[in-house]
Order: sequence, then C-alpha cells, then structure tokens
Amino acid sequence: MDGSLGITTHRTACPHDCPSACVLEVERLSPTRIGRVRGSHSYDYTAGTCCAKVARYAERVHHPDRLTHPLLRVGAKGEGHFAPISWDEALDRIAGAFRDAAAKHGAQSVWPYQSGGNMGMLQRYGLDRLRHVMRYSRQKSTICITPGESGWKAGHGQARGADPRGIAQADLILMWGGNPVTTQVNLMHHIQQARKQRGAKLVVVDAYRSPTMEAADIAVLLRPGTDAALALAMMAVALREGRADHAFLAAHTDFDAGVQAHILLHTPEWAAEITGIPAEEILALARLYAGSDRCFLRCGVGFTRSRNGAASIHAVSALAVLNGSWSKPGGGAFFYATDGWRMDTRLTQASDRIDSATRILDQSRIGPVLTGETAALAGGPPVMAMLMQNANSADVAPDSHLVRRGLAREDLFVAVHEQFLTPTAALADVVLPATTFLEHDDIYRGLGHTALTIGPRVIEPWGEARSNSAVVARLAQRLGAEHESFGMSDVEILDAALQGAGLGTWAEAVAAGTVDVGNRIPAGAAFQGFPQPDGRFRFKPDWAALGPYSAGMPAVASYWPNVEAATAETPFRLITPPARSFLNTSFSETPGSRKREGAPVLLLHPEDAAAQGIATGMQVRIGNARGSITLAAKLFDGLRPGVLALEGIHPGTAFPEGIGVNALVGADPVAPGGGVAFHDSAVWLRPA
Ligand code: SF4
Repeated sequence: MDGSLGITTHRTACPHDCPSACVLEVERLSPTRIGRVRGSHSYDYTAGTCCAKVARYAERVHHPDRLTHPLLRVGAKGEGHFAPISWDEALDRIAGAFRDAAAKHGAQSVWPYQSGGNMGMLQRYGLDRLRHVMRYSRQKSTICITPGESGWKAGHGQARGADPRGIAQADLILMWGGNPVTTQVNLMHHIQQARKQRGAKLVVVDAYRSPTMEAADIAVLLRPGTDAALALAMMAVALREGRADHAFLAAHTDFDAGVQAHILLHTPEWAAEITGIPAEEILALARLYAGSDRCFLRCGVGFTRSRNGAASIHAVSALAVLNGSWSKPGGGAFFYATDGWRMDTRLTQASDRIDSATRILDQSRIGPVLTGETAALAGGPPVMAMLMQNANSADVAPDSHLVRRGLAREDLFVAVHEQFLTPTAALADVVLPATTFLEHDDIYRGLGHTALTIGPRVIEPWGEARSNSAVVARLAQRLGAEHESFGMSDVEILDAALQGAGLGTWAEAVAAGTVDVGNRIPAGAAFQGFPQPDGRFRFKPDWAALGPYSAGMPAVASYWPNVEAATAETPFRLITPPARSFLNTSFSETPGSRKREGAPVLLLHPEDAAAQGIATGMQVRIGNARGSITLAAKLFDGLRPGVLALEGIHPGTAFPEGIGVNALVGADPVAPGGGVAFHDSAVWLRPA
C-alpha cells in the first residue's frame, strides 16, 4: 500500500526458528531500507502479534556488522582474519574443494549442512538439491524437536494435533513444558483471549518458573525429566476415581486391562518423590484436569529435550486421550505440526533425486562426525568439505568443544554462508554474505499452527549478499550438477511447488498471505480417530519403528528415568531454556536484544546457594567432563533445589572461556530417533 513520503507497507512472513511463522507487515522506506515491522491481522492465528525481537528487525537488517562481500581466510583457522574476494573466486574455491574431496575420498566426503537460522522451504531446504544431485552425504535434521516428535508419533501416528485455535473454546489450558510468553507470543494471545472471554484457567507445568508460569493461574514446578511420573500419577487418579472416558478408550485406543493395571501402580505419593511436587498438589491437579470437560493440552518442546523426552511426551499426551477430551469442544492436544504439509518437494529439494544408498549424517552430532567417530560417520569416509547455511553450530550444537575442534581441522574445507561473522563463520575458509528474509522470496511452515505463511521479498539485497538458493544454483553450475530447478527463479520454483500439491499459485498465495493446508487432527464433534493405520492411539508404542536408539524404552506409557543423573561429582541438573530476546543465537548481535538480555546469569535455588556460600552477583563456574563456563549467579526460588537454569544461548564471547553453555551438553543421540538433550546435563558448581 502507498503511503506518504514514499513509505510503503508490505506483507511477508517471519523465517525464524519459531513455530509461529508470523505473518508480518513491513514498512519499506526505500528500495534498500525498512522501517517498522508489525504483526499482520490478515491471519487469525498469528492475529496481529509479533515478538519484540522481530519488531526491531531494522536493527538487524541494517546492522553495520552485516557481511557485505565474500571473504577468504588469510590467517590461521579460527583467528578471524579474512580478506574480501569476488563472488566468482569464492564459488570457484568452494566448487574446487568439493571436487577435490570427492576425487580423493568419494562424493560422500562432502557434507552440505543446513540448520534453522532460516526455516524457508527453499532457503533452508534448497541446499538438498545440490546434495541429492551430487550424491553428497545426506543430513538428518534432529537438533530441534526430534525427541518430542518421536514421542508424539508413538502415540498419535503423525506429528499433527488439534487446531490450537480450539483454545478459544477451552475452560482449562494445560501448558506443559513450554513458555509461550517468551517463545510464542501468538499462542499466548489465544490463551489470554480464552481467559478473558470464558474465564479459562491456565495451568503451567515446567522445570522452572518461566514468565509463562508467572502468568499462570496454577503453577506446577517439577524436577527436569520427571514429567511422565506426574502424568502417570494423574492418569492413575482419573482411573481410580472413575473419571477416565472408557467409551473413548475402547473406540479410539489400544487401552486394555494390562495398560490399566500398569497405570494404577502409580500414586501421587510415588510421583511426589520423583517430581518434587507435593502429593496433594498432584491429586488436586489430576482432579482438575480429569474433571474438566473442555481442556486443551499444549505440549511445549522444553520437556522433550531430555534423554527420556520421547517417552515423557508420549505419557503426557496420553492424558488428553484418557479423559476423552479429544471428542469434546475445546479439547484435544497439540505439540508441533511437522507432518502433512503437502508442498511438492521435487523442485525445492530435488527429492526426486535422492539416492537411498548415500549415508545420512546426524546434524546434531556434527562434533563426533567432524572428529571422526566411526559410528557418527555411518561407516563412510571422513567429512572433508562442507557448505554450511543457516547454521551457527560452533555455539548452537551440543558438545561445543568437540564441534569447534572438528571445524578447526586443517584438512577440512568449510564454507559458511551467513549474515554475520558468527563463531562458526570465523572458523571457515570462505565466508559468503547471505540475504535476510526481507531480501528473498520463500514459504514457511507454521509448525505451531497449520498454515503455510508466504514471504515475498520486500527490499533489495544488502551489499553483495545473495540468497541461499542463488548460491546453490551457481555452485551447481560449476559442479556440472543438472536439475530442472537450477535453471528456475525462486518464484518459479515456489509456484511449481504449490501448484504441484494443488495449493494454487504463488501469486494467489502472496495475495492471501497464508495457505491453510488443514494438517490437523479434527477434534470435538469432528473427531474421528488418530492418524494411525487403525485410527487408534497407542498406549503401547512401537518404539523400534521410530528410530535406531529404542533399546530399553518402556513398552507401555511410563516414566523412564533415563537422564544424565546427578552424581557425587556432578550433583546439579542444568536446564537451558530460551531467552526472550534471542532465538538460538539469532538476534544475539542486535543492540536491542543484547541490552535486554545483558550478561549470562545462572539461576540457582537459595538453598543450594547457601550451602556453597554463593550470593547473587558472585561469579561461579559450572562444568562437567565436557567443559566449564564462568558466569554470574542469581538466587531464584523458581526451581527445585538441585536444579540450575541458564536462559538463552549467549554467544561464546559472553563467557571468559570464549565458549557457551552448549559446551556442557552431550552429543549422544536421544532415544529413539536422535536429537539433543539440551535440558539434561549433570554439572558441578563452585565459586569462580
Ligand atoms: S520469531 Fe516467532 S514470534 Fe517472533 S515474529 Fe518470528 S515467528 Fe513471530
């Protein structure tokens, strides 16, 4: 729309690693500059809201530290000394390194690597085109939600849930292990509407008193990794007191006398010992949930980032099944919608060219992969050349010392395509300047709802920045890779991907702002069953079908005490929930976010602090066999004793050791399908 002074407003969508994928309105001040960013009212889920960090996006897109030219390393690896080079030279060097690696070690020694710095169908996943056509190593993307996704699928069959807009009809919202005040402002908007309009109650279960728990009607604070114990005890109360919906269980689940007998073994007193929640609180919560006709269960990702996370969400999600809330208005449950997006991926990802004989490397295990662990390399050659897009693995991936040691290998060629000189880019041989979402076209999946949100470009690229897809196409040209998509523009590819799935055209999608693909499990009166082959929720899941690491997982919905337990040497359990103004390490470079978050702070219970003579503001060190970090302590009674919390992935430069909290997190794969146990580390604590 035209405005005064040449300012125009453009609708687009947020690309960040956040399930909201908000529809946005962006002021364009000139062909290269933006002004304010607001939420768009054109879509009723994201509903005119957007978070403060994206509202300040002008700070990021016009940041003086943005990369403007391709760079070549001129000093030792990791020293951070670079000289500008031309795009042609940069791409020639990358193509040359890929050709050399393939000639000496085979095509699978090249590992194109992508992560969630941008979630676009093309700008994130488009790197797969080069991978598949050239038969380079494939990637299993596990770093975010794989444990939760596996646990959800174990019961429901697919990663889909009830429409979260159903919250509007709920009388009780049970927010389990998530913090939407910090991470999903849109979801909080719907919760607040239900509270205002229906008098709905918000119950929050979490391992620390998050801003969402602060806002709750009922706060349930448990020890990390014990969620399933609480869920089991709640289900046992419902069964014992005749509040389970046996007609629903018989029609839509595999519940039987054996499952019932197993659940009934778990009392509130038993769960109190494990969770730290008093037994009477557990009893009251169980009665409140089982006694409510309209209760919506929203599972967050936080509690699933644990070695027992898949088993935990499976047990927690069974709560909504046991009381039959799926068939009632305002009922059902939701985690993430990662299944059923329908887009035709033949052109966006060259999915028509996948060679199933090529190995798959686990994104989360980049440390073990690059340092040559045989199992992590899946029996194939060492990785000798990489192109990394949307990935700051030096700070974000687990076991950061190992990751950095791998990236710093003298015999490994690394190209990083980024917007800023991140710690990962600083370890690269060649650095390429990347566009932001405002400078390219793409489509995003609303993983926290069920619509594709459409992101047309708003301004011209910054400096010489190029989009991820443009880099992939230029490299393909140099490498002789042939695929129909390499000769197409981004808009042509996205248009074909929509049309191929019967979702209309790009022009129609841009005009609408969203495309609802309907990938929900209908709830309430429309409920007909779960997306399992027989339509039944599984209390007895087939874990082995969900990944290679299922050994020892419980046969029936259970508390599985498989965590990195506290020991005499490492007596504290550490969780690392998100900070409000960062998103992983994105936004850690913008002044507004840095100012708001300040220096990293370790939250610890006053009892633990007193035992070690620690006061707020004192410098402390926490560590384990993987590493240690130094930061300021802050006394906080919103944790169970023995639990520590550090909010946000502050960049390594914020710590005296030059490395951040993920140095303490293990890279061992989470059962059954992989993933990272970010909130499951045992550590020691001492004054610095
Ligand atoms: S980061 Fe999340 S909440 Fe913020 S604008 Fe993007 S999608 Fe919306």
